[in-house]
Amino acid sequence: MSVAQDPDCIFCKIIQGKIPSRKVFEDDEMFAFHDINPWAPVHFLLIPKWHIPSMAQITEEHAPLLGRMMAKVPQLALQEGVNPYPQGGFRLVTNTGAEGGQEVHHLHWHVMGGPRPWLRG
Ligand code: 5GP
Ligand code: ZN
Repeated sequence: MSVAQDPDCIFCKIIQGKIPSRKVFEDDEMFAFHDINPWAPVHFLLIPKWHIPSMAQITEEHAPLLGRMMAKVPQLALQEGVNPYPQGGFRLVTNTGAEGGQEVHHLHWHVMGGPRPWLRG
């Protein structure tokens, strides 16, 4: 998969290593890193390397990529220290657009978990 990036996007810069991050996982099509401002004991972001602004741009052609990303979440969540389901578990959140609470316009999934209480969420 060729990768289109936006030179003004902070998450594209994180993928390229131009902005440092605490990496959780990387392969040829996705990247995961710890959120700089965590809401929960475990809080990382999973993003496609392709610059897609949000879920609002997702169509059928993205389904295989999104499926592979979603399939990665349980493994990464356990790797980063969430407690096992069902007593543990995690939240998977995607803010979309201004009214959806999105601040960074590169598609990302928040994966949050760990013992409560959390700061937010
Ligand atoms: P949104 O509000 O768009 O769903 O979430 C954006 C998330 O990106 C926020 O939780 C914020 O803390 C995180 N974030 C913003 N800038 C950076 C950064 O430079 N590095 C890291 N690791 N996270 C960031
Ligand atoms: Zn981007």
